[in-house]
Amino acid sequence: MTALIDAARRGRAWARRRGSAIGSVVAVRAQEPVVVLTYDDGPDPAGTRQVLDALAEHDATATFFVLLTRVRKHPTVLAEIIAAGHEVALHGPDHRRPTEFGRTEALRRLLDSRAELEDRAGRTVRWYRPPYGAQTLGTWRATRQAGLTPVMWGGTTWDWRDVGQDERVAKAMATVVGPGSILLAHDGFAGADDGAPDGGPTHDLDRYELTDRVLDGLAERGLRGVSLGGALAAGARPDLAAWFSR
Ligand SMILES: [Zn+2]
Repeated sequence: MTALIDAARRGRAWARRRGSAIGSVVAVRAQEPVVVLTYDDGPDPAGTRQVLDALAEHDATATFFVLLTRVRKHPTVLAEIIAAGHEVALHGPDHRRPTEFGRTEALRRLLDSRAELEDRAGRTVRWYRPPYGAQTLGTWRATRQAGLTPVMWGGTTWDWRDVGQDERVAKAMATVVGPGSILLAHDGFAGADDGAPDGGPTHDLDRYELTDRVLDGLAERGLRGVSLGGALAAGARPDLAAWFSR
């Protein structure tokens, strides 16, 4: 066990050293007591609006990693995200695993989808979260070449799992280690139309309740939720680490 922990520690130290050269954003070093809120797989007319309502209730902002397959279907919901002062980032042209593609094709998909999203959102898009967190050195390079920075996460809400809300809130509280953590959540569910084989949700999820309860829990610890761009604008610095996963 000790050997395992030592190995994990050495791995983290290695990742941190290499992070400056080949890093993805995995957290921020925040001056303020903030947690970065991120939502993937939208926009979705029901899920996104539930999340937007809860964020407004808590005066919080978030970064939405959107799929172009969904942006094309729900342009009004994208406009609502922007109008409410949140940040829009790229999750992909669809939800296919980016590591399935050769480097040239991976780069083309990123360049095309960044351009289309910027056009539709009317603003610059800086961040990219690969579906499933799947990234190789080749797709990392393609991401940087496309002018994007990969953003991963540390905390998770387990909101794609068929578990109870109590368990999801507890998971979020346990995995948000402190100020600067990036929390993973979803405002939609990628399905067959988005190139994801998963089919569809296996459970009903009240996304308003989940975000509301997570933000209550964070507030009890003196933490509030902000978008990644908002955190950086307030003086946080990106914490980079190597992150590779097929
Ligand atoms: Zn996703």
